[in-house]
Amino acid sequence: MDAFSRRSLLALAATGSIAAATPGRAAGFGNPDRPPQGAINASPEAVRDPGPQSPPLAGQFPSAQNPPATDVGDMQTFWSSFNTAHRRIQAGGWARQVTQADFPISTAVSGVNMRLDAGGVREMHWHLAAEWAYMTNGRCRITYLDAEGHASVQDVAKGDLWYFPAGMPHSLQGLGPEGCEFLIVFDDGSQSEFGTLLVTDWLAHTPPEDLALNFGVPADTFRSIPLDDLWIFQGREPGPLAEDQARIAAAGAPAEPVTFSLATTTPVRENRSGRLQMADSRTFKASKTIAAAIEVIRPGAMREMHWHPNADEWQYYIQGEGRMTVFGAGPRAQTADFRAGDLGYVKKSNGHYVKNTGTTDLIFLAVFRTAEYQEISLSDWLARTPPALVAQHLNIDPAVLARFPHNRPGLVPA
Ligand code: MN
Ligand code: MN
Repeated sequence: MDAFSRRSLLALAATGSIAAATPGRAAGFGNPDRPPQGAINASPEAVRDPGPQSPPLAGQFPSAQNPPATDVGDMQTFWSSFNTAHRRIQAGGWARQVTQADFPISTAVSGVNMRLDAGGVREMHWHLAAEWAYMTNGRCRITYLDAEGHASVQDVAKGDLWYFPAGMPHSLQGLGPEGCEFLIVFDDGSQSEFGTLLVTDWLAHTPPEDLALNFGVPADTFRSIPLDDLWIFQGREPGPLAEDQARIAAAGAPAEPVTFSLATTTPVRENRSGRLQMADSRTFKASKTIAAAIEVIRPGAMREMHWHPNADEWQYYIQGEGRMTVFGAGPRAQTADFRAGDLGYVKKSNGHYVKNTGTTDLIFLAVFRTAEYQEISLSDWLARTPPALVAQHLNIDPAVLARFPHNRPGLVPA
C-alpha cells in the first residue's frame, strides 16, 4: 500500500467511514476478499444507481448489476450477442456476425447468424477460414467441391451440421416452405462473412478475353454477368435433391461426408438435469478443426464445474435463460447472464459452470477450435485424488469427499 492510500484509509477510519461502508459480513465463507465485495457489504444507499441507465437493458443483466460476493478481479468481457449485431439484409435473406473485431476475447472463432428464405442463395464462394455450421431452423441445400474434384450436394435440416475445410468452394440455398436459419462458425476469430471470395467478383474483375481463353468460349458469352457481387440473392427453388446430385459432373463424393446429424446422435451425458450431445472429428470425421456440443440444462439444474484443457469455448445460446461464472488465475471470477441469441466465451483452461436461471430448458451450443473435445470435471479430479490429500487442502471430512460424484455427470444434480 502506498503512502497516499494508507493516509486516505487512516483518514477514513478516523471519521468512521470504513465502518459505515461495510455494514454486512466481513470477509469469510462465501465472501472471501478483502476489502469485502458485493452488495451484502454495502449500504442500500451505496448500492443505489441514480445515474443514467436503460432499465429494459440493465434488467437483462442482474449478475452485472449485482454480482455475487464471490466475484473478484477484472476479466475481459465474455458476453456478446447477435441481438445487437447489425443485420445485412438483401433480397433472399440476411446475415449478421460477431467477429474478434466486435468481441475481442473471441480469438479462436467468429460467428455468423444467417437466414435464407425459400430459394434464397448465399452466393458460390470460398474463404481463408474453415466453415462449420449448425442448422437452427428449416432446410438448406449445400454444394461443395474439394481439392480432389470430389463434389457434394446435400440437404440439411434443423439439428444438422456441415463443415467446409479452409478454401473449399461452396454455396447455400434455402428450401421451401419456410427457408432456413443457421449458425456459421469460422475457425479464425478474424474471418468475416462480408470478406469472402465470390464467384461474381472474380468474373467481373477478369478481362473478357481472358475469360474467353479460360473457358474456351467466345468473350461475348460473359456480356450479361453481374458487375456487382450477389452475396445473397433471391433464386429459384431447386428441384429434387437426386436430380441435382445426378447433374454434377463429379469425380466421386468426398472421402468424408461434409454433413452430420448432431441432433440424432446418442447423448454422451444424459440424466434428470439435462443432456449433452457431441460432434468432433472422431464422429464427424470431416470436421478436423471444430468440435461442438449441444447442451440442454433443465430448470434449476447446472452444467457442472469444469474446464477444457485444449481449446477456448465459444457459446451460442439458443433457448432459455442462463448464468455463467468464469474463473481464472489472479484470482478472477466473473458472472454474466445469457438469453437466446447471446454469445459467451471461455478461455482455454478457465474454470466455468452454467446454471439455468429460467423456467424452460436452457439450450446452448458450445463450439471449440480443436479436432477432439476434451473436458476436465472438478468433481472427478477431487474424487480421483487420494482423499487424505484432498482433505488437507479443503478441510472436508474424507467420508464426505467420498460422496462427491465419481462419474463426470456433466449435469447436476445427477
Ligand atoms: Mn462460406
Ligand atoms: Mn465448458
